[in-house]
Amino acid sequence: MYRINKIHGNVWVIGEDIRPDFTNSMVLVAGKESAALIDTGCGTGNLKETIAGLTSLPVTVLTTHVHLDHIGGHPYFEDIYASENEMREWMEKGLWRTSAADRLDFLRAAAEGNKERFARLEAEMLVESRFTWKPLKDGMVFDLGGISLETCMVPGHTRESFVFVNRSREEAYVGDSINPIPWLITEGGVSVMEYGRSVKKFAERYPMVRRLYSGHCMDDIGIQTIKDTLDCVDEILAGAADPEVSCYAGKAFRHVCRSVDMLYDRNHIYD
Ligand SMILES: [Zn+2]
Repeated sequence: MYRINKIHGNVWVIGEDIRPDFTNSMVLVAGKESAALIDTGCGTGNLKETIAGLTSLPVTVLTTHVHLDHIGGHPYFEDIYASENEMREWMEKGLWRTSAADRLDFLRAAAEGNKERFARLEAEMLVESRFTWKPLKDGMVFDLGGISLETCMVPGHTRESFVFVNRSREEAYVGDSINPIPWLITEGGVSVMEYGRSVKKFAERYPMVRRLYSGHCMDDIGIQTIKDTLDCVDEILAGAADPEVSCYAGKAFRHVCRSVDMLYDRNHIYD
């Protein structure tokens, strides 16, 4: 169920394959004393067992953002950090109650009519959706023993999306914040303009970062993604004539700039 890509001695990208061309990816970073798991996918397999096969250290889960394809496996773990506002919204909207049904709907759509694939995902999916969590804040540092991860909030895909920086490895685990196919169409999300400012701020704060591991890719997406994202934003702000397209979340406008294929809301370009 899970694909493992060992990128260094103590860093793994774990892929939850939903379709041959669609993966939810998580990152496991092990220090000398503890490990951090960034996101948990849709929960379509025994993630706890998979992680235990890679490290026997205590695991802290860090959440890039509270979307169902990133928190589905959270109930397998006890020590979890996530955005306070996104978690509050998740609780208030009752999304914890509908999480299993919502994840099944998502998987059904992602399976694109492949009944066998959907049946397998459904059979293995973790139904429990409740978990306890602690608030994640910008600037927090998680010391794993010899390696630490620094937290940077990058509003864009969601209002409080987080990125985790591994300074010693000069890399960052960016969830859906920096991505070859950024979606700026989340309800309550930020403007294209604000997203551009967030990405620029992140790049200026961490000039040493040379590799980016994103929420739906198994390998480094390439540091040029930052420049392509900023240019893509600038072209949209300058009034690009983009087509309207359909996607899983509904209708959106689409702008392509080199490696970045961005979906955005035309009514939410400026602040
Ligand atoms: Zn995602």
